[in-house]
Amino acid sequence: MANAISTTPVPRNEPVLGYLPDSAERNALGLELKRIKSERLAIPVVVGGEKRFHSNKVPVVIPHNHKHVLAEVSQATKADAEDAVKSCLASRAAWAALPWEERAAVFLKAADLLAGKYRAQINAATMLGQSKSAHQAEIDAACELIDFFRYNAHFAERVYSEQPESSPGMWNRSEARGLEGFVYAITPFNFTSIAVNLPAAPALMGCAVIWKPSPTSMLSSYIALKVLEEAGLPPGIINLLPGDPLIINDVLMKHPELSGIHFTGSTPTFNQLWKEVAKNIEVYRSYPRIVGETGGKDFIFAHPSADPAQVVTGMVRGAFEFQGQKCSAASRAFIPKSLWPAVEKSLVATVKELKIGDIEDYTNFLGAVIDKRSFDKIKGYIEAAKNTEQARILVGGTCDDSLGYFIHPTVIQAYDPSFKTMTEEIFGPVLSVYVYEDKDLDATIALCDRSSPYALTGAIYAQDRLAISHLTKAFEHSAGNFYVNDKPTGAVVGQQPFGGGRRSGTNDKAGSIFNLLRWVSHRTIKENFVPYTDYRYPFMKN
Ligand code: NAD
Repeated sequence: MANAISTTPVPRNEPVLGYLPDSAERNALGLELKRIKSERLAIPVVVGGEKRFHSNKVPVVIPHNHKHVLAEVSQATKADAEDAVKSCLASRAAWAALPWEERAAVFLKAADLLAGKYRAQINAATMLGQSKSAHQAEIDAACELIDFFRYNAHFAERVYSEQPESSPGMWNRSEARGLEGFVYAITPFNFTSIAVNLPAAPALMGCAVIWKPSPTSMLSSYIALKVLEEAGLPPGIINLLPGDPLIINDVLMKHPELSGIHFTGSTPTFNQLWKEVAKNIEVYRSYPRIVGETGGKDFIFAHPSADPAQVVTGMVRGAFEFQGQKCSAASRAFIPKSLWPAVEKSLVATVKELKIGDIEDYTNFLGAVIDKRSFDKIKGYIEAAKNTEQARILVGGTCDDSLGYFIHPTVIQAYDPSFKTMTEEIFGPVLSVYVYEDKDLDATIALCDRSSPYALTGAIYAQDRLAISHLTKAFEHSAGNFYVNDKPTGAVVGQQPFGGGRRSGTNDKAGSIFNLLRWVSHRTIKENFVPYTDYRYPFMKN
């Protein structure tokens, strides 16, 4: 193998299984759901491959049935964090020195394990731990994660293939070295695929990683780590530190060997991390790479030429799938007055149809929101809309956390476009609509562009080609992922590289070659085949 010039298997997006009644996948999923619910998994801290169980534990509950404890998670100590750094430093060099194909093979194998043997398990864990429907779990925990692993192996090959030119008498080469030290991966609750990709992408490129997962996605995160171990990931390359971020930060953020942060989560958390890097800048051996994908206030903007049925479908799917907890979820919509009667009638009727409840009932469109903190925050926005002249609730507005954290899908009509539900990230099943006068199209485009600090996703609906062109240009910087006549969610690895600008993050496009480039540091090697023997240049002769 040492002299093979390898190419990775050509990646194809993992097919999404249908989960029809009595299908093999639905039956397998049912068995896994039952098994996971009957157990109480003990989730350890993992340092250098060693599983450490502590008496300080935090429970993982089912969001739609919060009395049911699925797992107990040992909380990392300061000593665990210190050992995790040591483990990275001890393991990194041998991992980085492997031919890149050997590292890629671990993730390609993990993709196949997830596509087969562990598909039902990772989906069931995501359904129970994060309250996703079977379809939402399938497109995330199985398909998107498999895609991240397969496509990233392919993108890594492209990174390594990119080589400089050489003039006569020399050979120039470029080596994409994994970062020295360790990378700190901090991950959100809402996508199993994103949570696992954040430590996996730097590891693929030869880095050693410390992974601080979200407390509310621990079950799926831990199962994915075990899949990676089974696929051959050596001990110490991804160390798992569940626990209080402040205890972990206290060790990691001031450590001279911190070489990168791979973050996805809210904008305030990312700001905090960036400030800590700035505060410690004199301490580090290398400038840490800071990659963060953060919040959003994603929009749907309908032009008067749009088809109302398409707009309503985009609003309903875009705003309410997975309870509006996709970073890309539509959270505000701008509808022209001429379309509003048709849109309003159909939107209200459709939202009334949406069923909410236990995700094991396949007829439910929504499950519960992730936890009590989130429930209270979303409820606060709904209450604010009930108690103001600036807005009214069109449909929904009911919240009940007696069994699970259920918020009924809610549409708010805002008379004031700066009302807080139109401008702040809510991260729940709440869509705010502003109806604009058709003649005010350009002023409303400017309003949509400027009334939120974010620029993650946005969608326009229009039939008129001149309008599509005009809106696409006008919203050039309003979204990192922009959709024409489609909902703003559902980016697919390899097809719509994902990330936003402004306060939505560094826009390094997860699941693309651009993200992988952040985890390598290139060394350029020039070799001279005809070394000079005289310091004098020819023009110096008389
Ligand atoms: P969060 O910011 O609350 O938490 C993210 C992670 O950061 C968690 O692991 C959390 O424990 C950790 N954390 C919190 N404080 C920390 C600190 N001081 N130091 C280190 N780590 C800390 O976000 P969340 O609620 O898990 O996820 C929802 C947010 O993520 C939303 O704002 C959403 O828009 C965003 N998101 C963005 C994208 C994207 O691609 N742009 C994708 C998914 C989620």
